[in-house]
Amino acid sequence: MDNTSIRVNKLSESATIAMARKARELKSQGEDIISLSLGEPDFNTPDFIKEAAVEGIHQNYSKYMPVNGYLDLRESIVDKFKRDNGIQYNVDQIVVSTGAKQSIANVVLSCVNPGDEVIVPAPYWVSYEEIIKMAEGVPVFIETTIENDFKISPSQLEKAVTSKTKMMIYSSPCNPSGSVYSKEELRSLADVLVQYPNITVLSDEIYEHINFTNSYFSMAAFDDMYDQVVTVNGVSKSFAMTGWRLGYIGAPNWLANACTKIQGQFTSGTSGISQRAAIAAISANPDVVNEMKSAFLKRRDFVLNALSNIPGIKINEPKGAFYVFPDVSFFFNKSFGKYNIQNADDLTMYILETAKVALVTGNAFGSPNCLRISYASSLDNLKLAMERIASSLNELK
Ligand code: PMP
Ligand code: GLU
Repeated sequence: MDNTSIRVNKLSESATIAMARKARELKSQGEDIISLSLGEPDFNTPDFIKEAAVEGIHQNYSKYMPVNGYLDLRESIVDKFKRDNGIQYNVDQIVVSTGAKQSIANVVLSCVNPGDEVIVPAPYWVSYEEIIKMAEGVPVFIETTIENDFKISPSQLEKAVTSKTKMMIYSSPCNPSGSVYSKEELRSLADVLVQYPNITVLSDEIYEHINFTNSYFSMAAFDDMYDQVVTVNGVSKSFAMTGWRLGYIGAPNWLANACTKIQGQFTSGTSGISQRAAIAAISANPDVVNEMKSAFLKRRDFVLNALSNIPGIKINEPKGAFYVFPDVSFFFNKSFGKYNIQNADDLTMYILETAKVALVTGNAFGSPNCLRISYASSLDNLKLAMERIASSLNELK
């Protein structure tokens, strides 16, 4: 008998992971699929990080570890927050988890009671919505436009706040839009948020080092926001370590304690070997990732240029992460053969079946007019993919 809970039945599968799975299945059936669906660097983890892990194995870091992470890892995270973000945390305010995804789940489960509202600017990363729902919270989305670089304004934020608002969650650089909030823009949002000290703000900074602007600012670095903000980061994206599963937070003490309590019942501390590797990554000069960053920039420019040559597509210039998020609504209500495109889901399937390129529909991110293209793939793959996408779109009349 199928005993699935109501909780699971209400949960949607992650659209990014679902599309990557579909692309893998088609490939294994011999289809020539280019997958630009998953947000995962195609680079290998740098050698100095791998060596630290090997050393960790030889030094027998093989026992249960403290739930919130080894002390020396938390010390290196404290130093990182000071060095890169000008935020002063102490080791008790740091919790290391099995990926930033778990960090986010811990925080939401720590803050949200059934019926509490969580403000989420759209487009947003797919898992925010489902994690909020799992906590029985209510996501409240704020719409943005491509013309405004997919960013929210202080007045939109003010309007979204109600007596039930408990949290706000955003990412900068943003997955999927690539937008990066400047210090001034964050200040104007902070001016609204400081008036509501009962709102906890989750600042997801996992793409911090994949940022093509010359500056980066963290919300928690504003003195008057420090007690209200939890800063989420991790090693997956910046150091090409998606499979090592290590994320972390810097948070007010009450929240760090709550996250540790939850994690102590769910998973305990993350892999000791990954923690030894993360110390090497996080303590290194952030310039070690510059080579990957310049490769991402070259690829972004290539994809933007290719898209700008396709009539009807609207694009903004993503300033970070490794995604382009074009508005493709021009193609809605167009047809080719058996294909009749009503929305972004249809267009994503059309591109998968005719161009053999896997993308993710904007619906998954709360932007029904858009598609997400991950350019964390080689330039050769991107060139072929963009040629195929252009000729498929060209058929739609
Ligand atoms: N936040 C954002 C915005 C992401 O794109 C991802 C990617 N998976 C994560 C958090 C989670 O990262 P991870 O669990 O791999 O550390
Ligand atoms: N964050 C990545 C993405 O958006 C990885 C997939 C996932 O963890 O959901 O594609």
